[in-house]
Amino acid sequence: MSVIENLENIKKLGIEEFLRNEKIRWTCIECGGTICVHKGSCYGCGRKT
Ligand SMILES: [Zn+2]
Repeated sequence: MSVIENLENIKKLGIEEFLRNEKIRWTCIECGGTICVHKGSCYGCGRKT
C-alpha cells in the first residue's frame, strides 16, 4: 500500500480505525504474536502471512 493510499484511508476511516486495521494486519492469526514487517513472518511461531 502506498503512502497516498494510507492517507486516503486515514481520511476515510479516521485515525483510530486505521490504526486498528494496521494492528490486525501485523498480528499473527495463529498465536497473536507480532509479525515482522521485513520478513513477513511471525516472531512467535514463524508463521508466514
Ligand atoms: Zn504466530
